[in-house]
Amino acid sequence: ANSAGSLYNVVLIGGSGVGKSALASIFAGALDSMDGDFECCAGQIREQTVTVDGESAIITLLDTWDPQNGGSWTQEQCLQAGDAYLIVYSITDRESFERASELRVQLRRARQSEDIPIILVGNKCDLVRCREVSLNEGRACAAMFDCKFIETSAAMRHNVWEMFDGIVRQLRLRRDTK
Ligand code: GDP
Ligand code: MG
Repeated sequence: ANSAGSLYNVVLIGGSGVGKSALASIFAGALDSMDGDFECCAGQIREQTVTVDGESAIITLLDTWDPQNGGSWTQEQCLQAGDAYLIVYSITDRESFERASELRVQLRRARQSEDIPIILVGNKCDLVRCREVSLNEGRACAAMFDCKFIETSAAMRHNVWEMFDGIVRQLRLRRDTK
């Protein structure tokens, strides 16, 4: 790696209301005292330098999937723009879990010959009483789709950085085996 670190686009996709923007704001808030980070496009696109395992990477996080964000990105553009994807559902919303599976298929179709790092993310794991999708279902789905899996809570800030660090590690693994 060069001293400036590697540059990667990571795209958040998933049903509406699952917590994509909440996860993105945690990402954006991480290094708020440092220079070099910036926000643009009404907070839809955020760039941060992150250090994972002692190595830095510049991550551009795209929260451009939902049209109601007021952005001009089409979903097809989102499916082409990522070096890696976080497919988010809410553990309190089975429909969003089914949607995540559809998106995995759509992504595979859009980027056929590529081996793109993906993490299936079950967000809102703080809402235990409203759970509709079990941990094992999430795991099984990720295994079937040959991607990583994590449950997060943006509200509790639980596992959010584990998720971002995880996607950086996945990207490096792909890079280092090229
Ligand atoms: P998006 O449509 O995927 O961008 O979802 P948002 O980030 O706008 O979140 C939708 C709603 O869910 C908001 O009211 C958030 O405050 C709430 N929310 C997001 N993540 C969590 C979480 O981890 N736990 C809880 N309890 N609420 C969350
Ligand atoms: Mg949003």
